[in-house]
Amino acid sequence: MVVTKSKVISWLDAAADVFEKKQEFLTDLDREIGDADHGLNMNRGFRKVKEKLPTLADKDIGTIMKNTGMVLLSTIGGASGPLYGTFFIKAAETVMAKEELTVTDLYHMYQEGTERIIARGMAHPGDKTMVDTLSAIVASLKARQDDPLSSALAETLKAAEQGMKSTIPLRAAKGRASYLGERAIGHQDPGATSSYLLFKTLCDVVDL
Ligand code: ADP
Ligand code: MG
Ligand code: MG
Repeated sequence: MVVTKSKVISWLDAAADVFEKKQEFLTDLDREIGDADHGLNMNRGFRKVKEKLPTLADKDIGTIMKNTGMVLLSTIGGASGPLYGTFFIKAAETVMAKEELTVTDLYHMYQEGTERIIARGMAHPGDKTMVDTLSAIVASLKARQDDPLSSALAETLKAAEQGMKSTIPLRAAKGRASYLGERAIGHQDPGATSSYLLFKTLCDVVDL
């Protein structure tokens, strides 16, 4: 089984609905250790992505991903806009001209996107950011390239959840939460949570 182009479009479309539904939840997390706008940012960005999807239906997966990144870059302010924008634009380069994705393709996408987020934001695993979820996803996909798609995704979703939850006991080394020192301990990172939700949406769409 592979992820077809129409599933990629469904993924991004469904992500817009998820971020609309989870706006308050993400913003509440960001209220605890940031400036209470992460839900707003993700909802605004993905609403625009969704609006543009119909014009991209006849394009390849790389072009769809690149476009998504450019929309996120230009519509989300704050830290997460340039980071998610970079993620999609760089992930896109690994899947240019493709009409379907294998587990290995997903691995390459997440690997490249995450590496570029790290290069741009200088946050490493354990710094209490989206990188904690993303690097857990990368490691899991790397290890499961020979598995069937559905089990690779199911196992990777568990790893992503662990990556997200691993941020709870940490202090933050990057982003606004780093100003809080000890007070960030005990709170789940908003960006680690949105990265989990984005991957969960992919899993949900592929399983349909
Ligand atoms: P802002 O902090 O500018 O208001 P958001 O609230 O939209 O932006 O996003 C905050 C999230 O961005 C954090 O929860 C964290 O996961 C992520 N983040 C912040 N700085 C970095 C960084 N340097 N590298 C990776 N992720 C980061
Ligand atoms: Mg914020
Ligand atoms: Mg902000």
